Amino acid sequence: MRNSRRSIRASTTDRRPKYKKFANRGGPEKAPLFVIMNVILLAHTPEPDSVVAAAARICYKDIAASELLQAEEQNLSRKLIADLFQSGHMSTFEHVSFTFGIDGLSRVASHQLVRHRLASFSQQSQRYVKMNPDPEAVIIPPSIQNNPEALKLFQESVKLSQQTYAKLVELGIKKEDARFILPHGHSTRLVMTMNARELHHFFSLRLCRRAQWEIHELARKMLILCREKAPVLFEKAGPSCIFGKCNEARTCGNPYRDMEALMFD
Ligand SMILES: Cc1cc2nc3c(=O)[nH]c(=O)nc-3n(C[C@H](O)[C@H](O)[C@H](O)COP(=O)(O)OP(=O)(O)OC[C@H]3O[C@@H](n4cnc5c(N)ncnc54)[C@H](O)[C@@H]3O)c2cc1C
Repeated sequence: MRNSRRSIRASTTDRRPKYKKFANRGGPEKAPLFVIMNVILLAHTPEPDSVVAAAARICYKDIAASELLQAEEQNLSRKLIADLFQSGHMSTFEHVSFTFGIDGLSRVASHQLVRHRLASFSQQSQRYVKMNPDPEAVIIPPSIQNNPEALKLFQESVKLSQQTYAKLVELGIKKEDARFILPHGHSTRLVMTMNARELHHFFSLRLCRRAQWEIHELARKMLILCREKAPVLFEKAGPSCIFGKCNEARTCGNPYRDMEALMFD
């Protein structure tokens, strides 16, 4: 029972809806012009901090499995997990996993996301699902949203490709072939599961300022959700600069001050 996943639905309690300012240019009565990325936690291993501490305990103590999860002082678990992290005994973090539901991510970002080989993915199929012909179905980078001339060009091009897609489908071309004309920025939906070890790796790479803005934003939303459920496990998650020294060969020169700055600035 303890390892079964409890179904929960938690929206990101995000104090900084970074791209929301782009969302509703026409007032509340009009539909949003731009896609907003939505990330929810669909499920996670119950009591993640305790499960990792229990896994460590069996390594270091002669203790029966039935007693592993008996309440231990929270400070002891915290110290144990900090020691695991520092000594690189990260296999203990693999016992807990988190499953996210993601909407409104571009296929540009999802292409980067699926490079993480230790995660599990289920992604909306463009072979089976007819793509939404609305302009809102395409993610527009902030740099383009903030440049009226670039935005106009972008939207004209999106419209043309969507019209072509619709026409190709009308002509009897299969969706799997018609989709070749769709923009790379088209939004997609995914369910993704990562264990806590892979999440740490993911956060260290994708919360670095050198990561692309969209996957950085996804990682930030995911970390907020993870820290809500497992504050001890994810206390030290994030890019190396937060913990003292940048590991990047080409540093951005603008290290994060602290976790607060990373999450909410
Ligand atoms: C800023 C940035 C820029 C990037 N630019 C490019 C680019 O220009 N071109 C490009 O192709 N990619 C690029 N990438 C993607 C990058 O090369 C990785 O594919 C991606 O970050 C996934 O990381 P990973 O392989 O460490 O992680 P995962 O696949 O999540 O694996 C986690 C860890 O498991 C271990 N592991 C997994 N599979 C193996 C294996 N087969 N053998 C041995 N160990 C394994 C490794 O320790 C690995 O770090 C970029 C990534 C970042 C963050």
